[in-house]
Amino acid sequence: PARTRFAPSPTGYLHLGSLRTALFNYLLAKRTGGQFLLRIEDTDQKRTVPDAEQRLFDDLRWAGLQWDEGPEVGGPYGPYKQSQRSAIYKEHAQSLLASGNAYRCFCSAERLNHLAEHRHKLGIATDYDRTCASIAKEESDDRAHNGESHTVRLKVPDQYPTYKDLIYGTFRPLKKRGHVTETSYEDPILLKSDGLPTYHLANVVDDHLMKITHVIRGSEWMPSTPKHIAMYEAFGWTPPEFAHVGLLVDENGNKLSKRNFDTDITAFKEMEIFPETLTNFAALLGWSHREKSDVMDLQTLIQNFSLKFTKGNTTVTFGKMQFLQRKHALTRAEKGGPQLQEMVANVTGLLTSPDSPYQDWKSIVGSALPEDYITSIVAVDAENYTNANEFLYRNAFFFTPLRPFHKAPPVTTSSDIPMRAQMLSEIIEEDWNKENLMQKVREIVDGRAEGKAGSKDVYHYLRKTITGQEQGMRIFDVMVILGRGETLARLGME
Ligand code: GLU
Repeated sequence: PARTRFAPSPTGYLHLGSLRTALFNYLLAKRTGGQFLLRIEDTDQKRTVPDAEQRLFDDLRWAGLQWDEGPEVGGPYGPYKQSQRSAIYKEHAQSLLASGNAYRCFCSAERLNHLAEHRHKLGIATDYDRTCASIAKEESDDRAHNGESHTVRLKVPDQYPTYKDLIYGTFRPLKKRGHVTETSYEDPILLKSDGLPTYHLANVVDDHLMKITHVIRGSEWMPSTPKHIAMYEAFGWTPPEFAHVGLLVDENGNKLSKRNFDTDITAFKEMEIFPETLTNFAALLGWSHREKSDVMDLQTLIQNFSLKFTKGNTTVTFGKMQFLQRKHALTRAEKGGPQLQEMVANVTGLLTSPDSPYQDWKSIVGSALPEDYITSIVAVDAENYTNANEFLYRNAFFFTPLRPFHKAPPVTTSSDIPMRAQMLSEIIEEDWNKENLMQKVREIVDGRAEGKAGSKDVYHYLRKTITGQEQGMRIFDVMVILGRGETLARLGME
């Protein structure tokens, strides 16, 4: 069983990319019968956005990604918020100092900047010259004791370790500077001068203490991973497995922009994208499976999950999301229950609101409950559903009296159709159902001179007169939903 984690920094809200990272970690944990953890990495308090944490919780839960351990649910390795774990990091930095794998650095920020600039000019790959690495232990202890400001740095081996990424294979960090490319790195800072940990220290210590087995994260963290491996080695710990996933880009290969999905989850909620659509959509970004269909709810994603990620960036296209939305709408309609009710409630809310685009809806729905009326339309149109507004717009003829239509009947090749359509009024209210309507229309077709050959004209006439449209759902479904009175009125036969 894998223990995975999602470790967001509350510096912003959940986006498509971070949702995908969370989802992959969730899926691996669930697939293997393990645990999915949530850890808040708020070591950089200056950049913390006040409501980001709560929004993260809400958005993850909305998407169905409930964590097994973490804030609000607890767990054996808490607290799960790094700002509440400072003592743990300090202690671990101390242990590295004691074992000689770390040293105090007393260099001022000013000196460091200066040094970096100088070395940069000389084409040296690292910014820091490790001056403080050679300070004797007693001196270092004394200076710290006397309150001299310092950071704690990891003393890295001359060659940074390579590691084998589950997706990218053997990864060797290279640092380019000018024409020089070296596999050397800085001695990373573990504790800042305020005694708080850097991301690197906190991340490694927590992944170890929380017994994380697999880290799935964005490829922007790949260059940091050798640093992390070096820390694991310094502590004498076994590192977890790493699987990095490529970045999400737009159709032009650019980083996602505000216009192009780089938008927090709220925007998808506002578009009424279903959570199962969004998780389905996010899962397909850079992951492949062997199923025939791409349409999968969370349970199906879990069943089919494996670490088959693509190397490199993944292009995000909007059309696919709408496709998945329609598929999931159909599933909701077929399953019934609260998910279907939610769709119906959205449509009803919009239809009956004071600024509804369809003010006359009551004249058609009559004494029936709008919910029931809408449910019957969803039942035959769910496969086209994307959101309430679009649904109402596409089905506007169900909510707008179309009286003028029979006054200007559409052009048909034979003029006896309107007259023959009169036969529909022979059906009485109680018998106004699909079977009887189909039977009657067959009689209308057969009774005409053209016989069956002209049946298309009859259907076209009915559709055009009743819905005002050339195409759409089966006309018998429309007639049943509109009911006898409204249908006949549209045909001019009240
Ligand atoms: N806190 C980091 C972030 O915000 C976590 C990176 C990682 O998964 O190690 O992305």
